[in-house]
Amino acid sequence: MSKIGWIGLGNMGIPMSVNLVKAGKDVVVWNRTKSKADEVVAAGAAWADSPKAVAEACDFVFTMVADGPALHDAVLGADGAAAGLSPGKIVIDMSTISVAESAKVNEAVEAAGCKFLRAPVTGSTALAAAGTVGVLASGDKAAYEKTLPLFEIVGGNQFYLGGGDEARVMKLSLNLMIATTMQMQAEAVVMAEKAGLDVAQVCDIIAGSAVGSPLTGYKSKVIAEGVYAPAFPIRLMIKDLKLALGVGEAYGVKMESTELTKNRMELAQSKGYGDNDFSVLVKLLEEDSGVNR
Ligand code: NAP
Repeated sequence: MSKIGWIGLGNMGIPMSVNLVKAGKDVVVWNRTKSKADEVVAAGAAWADSPKAVAEACDFVFTMVADGPALHDAVLGADGAAAGLSPGKIVIDMSTISVAESAKVNEAVEAAGCKFLRAPVTGSTALAAAGTVGVLASGDKAAYEKTLPLFEIVGGNQFYLGGGDEARVMKLSLNLMIATTMQMQAEAVVMAEKAGLDVAQVCDIIAGSAVGSPLTGYKSKVIAEGVYAPAFPIRLMIKDLKLALGVGEAYGVKMESTELTKNRMELAQSKGYGDNDFSVLVKLLEEDSGVNR
């Protein structure tokens, strides 16, 4: 049986790797902070002492880390995964990072005679636990097809976008819409709230209207309760908006609502909300508007 490596056991990496173990796969894991491997090791995965050791032991090497610098540390650094590769292996990065950061990793993986798939995901930690994230993949088509049965374990929908870094761009397109939608929802809700309307009812009506979406639907309860536990923390959304703005700049596309939303999120972070869910934009606007719920 093929061995599956998993590097990066944060909020997404833990449930996704646990799902591979539960599906009967032979999984080897590494995480910078070892204690975060407890759950997946208890489920049946093996621990390796470095990303290099994971790559030596495995045919498929998944990475799911915070950002580009983290991926570079885990793959290109001393004892990184690239040092453990031998020809024929497939490296799959599921983190959200930039095209330039991704290209550097691709170079090292190809130099080792292996293939690199870019496979960022769409969906939150709840979908990761349910095994229903959307997988946006690009890179070598044959490597994608070999990896598809594994993508089907961790994700509900699979999309193949092309032979290069297309999936990186698609992921940023989606996240900029998610972020700017939340800024719009914050403005709609707080305006109505200040005018005396009931927040829960406002959210329900938005969710069921022509502008309703899965996002406005599942954020309704969060906003109505005013408890912003991180399904997707604002610090990671800021990273994604900066990456999206970088793509816009590279292609000469002006993205003013993305810029404004990033600025609002940076303000939220400066007020200590960096680890809250990005829907904390509602609370930020309530505070700016003198609402104390
Ligand atoms: P997270 O909980 O913050 O976990 C980050 C992971 O990266 C941890 O395993 C962390 O290791 C590791 N890491 C950070 N810096 C590192 C370094 N220098 N070297 C090695 N490892 C390092 O993040 P997450 O929520 O799992 O998200 C992971 C990726 O998925 C991000 O790119 C995010 O944008 C994307 N994403 C997240 C969601 C979501 O809802 N959370 C949804 C879709 C996509 P330690 O444990 O040692 O800190």
